[in-house]
Amino acid sequence: MIDVVVIGGGPAGMSAALVAGRGRKQVLLIDEEKPRNAVTNATHAFLTRDGIKPEAFREKGRRDLLKYPTISIKKGKILSIEKTLESSFELTTESEEIINTKNIILATGVKETLPDVRGIETYYGSSIFSCPFCDGWEMKDRPLVLIAESVQALHVTKLLKNWTDDLIVATNGNTVFDDDQKRVLETNHIRLIEERIVELKGIGGELQSIVFESGEEIKRAGGFCTTVLENNFPFLEQLGIEVNEAGFIMTDIMGHTNIKGIYAAGEITGPSQLIVSASQGHMAGAGIIAESCDAAFQGI
Ligand SMILES: Cc1cc2nc3c(=O)[nH]c(=O)nc-3n(C[C@H](O)[C@H](O)[C@H](O)COP(=O)(O)OP(=O)(O)OC[C@H]3O[C@@H](n4cnc5c(N)ncnc54)[C@H](O)[C@@H]3O)c2cc1C
Repeated sequence: MIDVVVIGGGPAGMSAALVAGRGRKQVLLIDEEKPRNAVTNATHAFLTRDGIKPEAFREKGRRDLLKYPTISIKKGKILSIEKTLESSFELTTESEEIINTKNIILATGVKETLPDVRGIETYYGSSIFSCPFCDGWEMKDRPLVLIAESVQALHVTKLLKNWTDDLIVATNGNTVFDDDQKRVLETNHIRLIEERIVELKGIGGELQSIVFESGEEIKRAGGFCTTVLENNFPFLEQLGIEVNEAGFIMTDIMGHTNIKGIYAAGEITGPSQLIVSASQGHMAGAGIIAESCDAAFQGI
């Protein structure tokens, strides 16, 4: 039986596999290879890897893992998890392979839904982004738009003022700001447009202008948008795993969920960044090792 199955091969899953494999556990990492950041050309703010392409980051990570005879990697999707005995689980892959394990680390990331603006996918990851800490520096001092359909709008607007003084906020026909908040935008010289966006214009993923329902066209050299992030792992209720109000898995600092033998790390526990996800993966890997050492020491 495999000691640890890590589901998801992003920074959280790879980091968890590395620590568990170095802790002498037999580790299998299964990854569907559909990471959230695949749309972008470069990722930032991961110390020693600033500006790296997402594929190169994964490739480097996998090379680190495969140095260890205790770690193997498979491409695949887990379709079901059943608890078998008190201390083991049976996983089924999309290709109907059955895998038995004592421990699972869930690191499957999140599903992201973009604002309801036609063609936004063409620009997302090239000149429209969602995280100012990830891409604000690259977009600094440009005329930007924030496309914000949700209540995160004010928070992201405040952040973006740090990177540009030329900002408009477009809610795409939604009402997301109350009167007090609108006054704050005005004081900060930020134009709010509550009409629907009918077109994003640009070339090769580089945004050039936005056309609104009234026919007004405003030149912009890029922007940010609020997105909806949801847990994309379907078996949590069936396994009895506790989630918070937003639907993300609740863990302690060592990645333990409320179910013995199931750990979680990365964005499945809440939206974050590469380095944060990697660090959570590290803690979950360490959590498994610490727990098994403790059990062995006590003769359990
Ligand atoms: C456009 C964009 C730009 C970004 N830029 C940055 C940046 O510059 N810096 C930064 O720090 N962060 C950035 N991020 C955020 C970063 O991508 C995430 O924080 C990080 O990838 C989360 O890591 P994770 O391991 O939790 O999930 P992911 O990296 O999403 O990995 C999850 C993996 O699990 C797999 N999976 C899902 N379900 C299953 C299943 N049932 N079976 C098997 N495998 C499964 C997925 O296919 C995927 O490969 C960006 C995100 C986006 C969208």
